[in-house]
Amino acid sequence: MENNPTKNNFFDQATLDRFCIDHAGIGIFQISEETGQILNVNRKVCTDLGYTREELLNMTIFELDTAFSDGDIEKWRQHRQNIKERGGGTIESFHKCKDGSVIPVEVTITYITFQGKSLAFSFSKNISKRKKIENALKNSEKLFRTTLYSIGDGVITCDLNGNIQNINKVAENLTGWIEKEAKGLPLEKVFRIINEHTRKKVINPVDKVFAEGKIVGLANHTLLISKDGRKIPIADSGAPIFSDEGNITGAVLVFRDQTEERQQQRELEKSRNYLSTLMNNLPGMAFRCKNFPTWNMEYVSKGCEELTGFKPEEFIQEDQISFSSLIHPEDLSQIWETVQNAIQKKKPYQIEYRIRTKDGTEKWVWEKGEAVFFEGNKVDVIEGFITDITERKNFEKKLKDNDQLKTAFLQNVSHEIRTPLNAILGFSELVKLNDIPQKEKNDYLDIIQSNGQKLLNILNNVLELSKIETGDIVITPTRFQLNSLFNELLSIFSIQAQEKGLKLIFSKADTNNLTIFTDYTKLDQILTNLISNAIKYTEKGEIEIGYFKKDRNILFFVKDTGIGISKSQQKKVFERFYRSDDPKTRNHDGVGLGLSICLGLLNKLNGEIWLESQPGKGTNFFFSLPAEFTLA
Ligand code: ADP
Repeated sequence: MENNPTKNNFFDQATLDRFCIDHAGIGIFQISEETGQILNVNRKVCTDLGYTREELLNMTIFELDTAFSDGDIEKWRQHRQNIKERGGGTIESFHKCKDGSVIPVEVTITYITFQGKSLAFSFSKNISKRKKIENALKNSEKLFRTTLYSIGDGVITCDLNGNIQNINKVAENLTGWIEKEAKGLPLEKVFRIINEHTRKKVINPVDKVFAEGKIVGLANHTLLISKDGRKIPIADSGAPIFSDEGNITGAVLVFRDQTEERQQQRELEKSRNYLSTLMNNLPGMAFRCKNFPTWNMEYVSKGCEELTGFKPEEFIQEDQISFSSLIHPEDLSQIWETVQNAIQKKKPYQIEYRIRTKDGTEKWVWEKGEAVFFEGNKVDVIEGFITDITERKNFEKKLKDNDQLKTAFLQNVSHEIRTPLNAILGFSELVKLNDIPQKEKNDYLDIIQSNGQKLLNILNNVLELSKIETGDIVITPTRFQLNSLFNELLSIFSIQAQEKGLKLIFSKADTNNLTIFTDYTKLDQILTNLISNAIKYTEKGEIEIGYFKKDRNILFFVKDTGIGISKSQQKKVFERFYRSDDPKTRNHDGVGLGLSICLGLLNKLNGEIWLESQPGKGTNFFFSLPAEFTLA
């Protein structure tokens, strides 16, 4: 270089060159190719490394470059030789700074020939920043790959053309394609999906993502067909990938194997169906309700309609019927207490109570339930089951009644038997006496006979009733004229009636000697009971008997002008052993079986019995029988 001043500058060229070199933004070294001694450096090297120029000129490359800090000069010479042979080159290395830190550098070695001599210049660039960015990029890529490959779902990324870029292990397993084969292929080749039901191809999810430019959940019931033809149920979603500028650069597809999930779903559905079928077929209603005195329902099974007459919706809609409105008011507080006690003990409860159904019928129900708790002690809901036990309750009542009846029966029978029996025994003793006139003896024998008859009647009645009760009774229907039966009865009872000063009238008005097809003896028995009662409970006036036709039935009546039966007793008179407490009744013989026998017989003959009565005025017993008896 010539040492002349340049045309327009104060400095000569050499000074200017030196200035430029010194202030260049890049470090410049000159190193002895022989020894590695640093021969020259510019200012940038000093500022980069923290040494003074003098210090650096006393150092070798071995103290500076970490790649050669072992001082192996031969290795270094070989390295330089290689570069020299290539006419120069760029390498990356690390330079040690004075403060002990190490900076990454990019060194470009250039050879020039000066005055026949080959000179090497190294231009070093501190690349710390670049390295940092590179590292960050590497790290984020590593993170991306680690995330992508360790994710439990299948993930496929595509470029803007819909060609596959990455495919993780799960996606490899599901599609049957490995990443190496799949890379660059169009998505639909690897990710083949059809609709589970129609078996038709489903729209390529990535196209959908590109079209909508947002995350899309993909169709349900999708089957993925893997490379080897397996059909795997999947759930999937796709999302676009955006550049910093907000442009879509690709798409990510995430999908997972739903085989198990769907199996579980099916199982769940199956068990749900099973449970609801079970619940809906239970003879009663399953329920869930709040723990409020209104017992408002949150859920009731179908059985509620049969139990209560109300449809399930009527209990759970907005304007719902509260279950408590069905409960018998007398039972409400007992239910509340039972449930609250059970809640306190965290135990199930059982209770029986009465409800009134939609049509007003009263039913007995049995309920078993249990509270469902949350956060330890707070009651969420009560869940349980209610079933109809009316029949059982009635049966229990019947059993109880029967028990009472048995006792009453024994008491009544023994009482009723004792009276005539005592008479028989007493008068028999008298008859045995020798010094009694024959006339008196005959009177005693009459008494014995009539009491024997009473005894026989009682026993006959008891026997008859027990036959009716056990079903041990045979109906033998025959066709006969009713007038003849009535005339017969008239002749039998007229004497008795006359003895009491009563008139017995067979009322033939509007009857034409009808015939009937029924059991003669049983009908005779019913009329006999009613007529003898009428005579028994009438002191003056008349007894009118008769019949008339009504539709397909014949209506019979026995009407008296006797003591009558109070309203409250009218139903009871048909109960077994029932006898009015009225002393007027008690004055007469009887065990309270006659009317229950009538009722029992009429049941067997498909008939009905009822009465109209006014105490002190008289009673009118009616009963109806089908004109033509048929077996029910
Ligand atoms: P019993 O006459 O043997 O007492 P029943 O079964 O025939 O038994 O009658 C039951 C009860 O019904 C009688 O005790 C009586 O109180 C009442 N009763 C039945 N028939 C009449 C009637 N015609 N008038 C008034 N009370 C009657």
